[in-house]
Amino acid sequence: MVAPSGEARLLVDRFSRALRNLRLSVTDRCNLRCAYCMPEQEYVWLPREQFLRFEELSVLVDAFIGLGVERLRLTGGEPLLRRGLPQLVALLAAKPGLRELALTTNGVLLEEFAEPLFAAGLDRVSVSLDTLTRERFAALTRRDDLDRVRAGIAAAQRAGEAHGRGPLKLDSVIIRGTNDDEIDALLEYAREVGGEVRFIEYMDVGGATRWSMERVVPRREILDRLEARYGRIEALPERSSAPAERFALRDGTIFGIIASTTAPFCSTCDRSRLTADGIWYRCLYARSGTDLRGPLRQGATAEGLSALIADAWRSRADRGAEERLHLAATERARRLVAPIELRGDPHLEMHTRGG
Ligand code: SF4
Repeated sequence: MVAPSGEARLLVDRFSRALRNLRLSVTDRCNLRCAYCMPEQEYVWLPREQFLRFEELSVLVDAFIGLGVERLRLTGGEPLLRRGLPQLVALLAAKPGLRELALTTNGVLLEEFAEPLFAAGLDRVSVSLDTLTRERFAALTRRDDLDRVRAGIAAAQRAGEAHGRGPLKLDSVIIRGTNDDEIDALLEYAREVGGEVRFIEYMDVGGATRWSMERVVPRREILDRLEARYGRIEALPERSSAPAERFALRDGTIFGIIASTTAPFCSTCDRSRLTADGIWYRCLYARSGTDLRGPLRQGATAEGLSALIADAWRSRADRGAEERLHLAATERARRLVAPIELRGDPHLEMHTRGG
């Protein structure tokens, strides 16, 4: 199948969506316990010996780039917990054909790693930050680490500027009754640190075991609240398949909204996710993925791996968030994955798939 464009042959799925973005989870461990992602203290973890080694990741990334992937994002768990991450960044940043190498982090360890990561070739950093209140941060993440995150953000801003990269993105999941009174404060903080905030609607994936539709603050409401405070908001033209819609305040401040729950973007979704142990998921909501570690460790050739990936992508028909949206309210109120299933297969957890 060929994409309907004038470009060279593109690998596309059953809805003509090209394979362009890959999120690489480098660990399922995390040093926070955010209520909407990892609400439990303990989890069934992926065995470390099954984590892909850097040279294995490099082989798989070559296969993905050969099939059209041009943007990579390192995720977790918390990716900065993976030992030697700057070495992996250097390995990946040197790949011809890659247009962007990004990282999503909770920022706790970023003060130490920002400079070595940018020096190794990282293009941009997104830091997850849902509150600016110390007590609230501690309650939401079960760790008293807000100061460390803020120091990490400052370090990333400095290092990004020094290496001519950026701008820094702040990702804020907005939850009614939890942090929806901080929408303007988060926007102003992002402006202060020279970054851009993206407000993310609360999603009911894997470990979001306390999710309910009532707690989602829809895009329209976020815009209304900001408009009431700052005046007219202008929608900026869409430049890519990126999930965030971007907007500008009258003073030029730019922010984004990722309306993953009320206005999913499955129809243009070009992203997939590789877990730290090499299972490849073509949708955040997919119940199963393709094992790439097994064939890799059994000596599959580069051509064999490419064929496996290409065949799986061609048969992709996932549109998980759209399907969730169209479920009846009663169905939707049920948990996406029962806790017993989550304990049985850690791959069903959002933190294993890299969010
Ligand atoms: S739900 Fe699946 S198909 Fe839809 S945007 Fe998310 S990952 Fe893509």
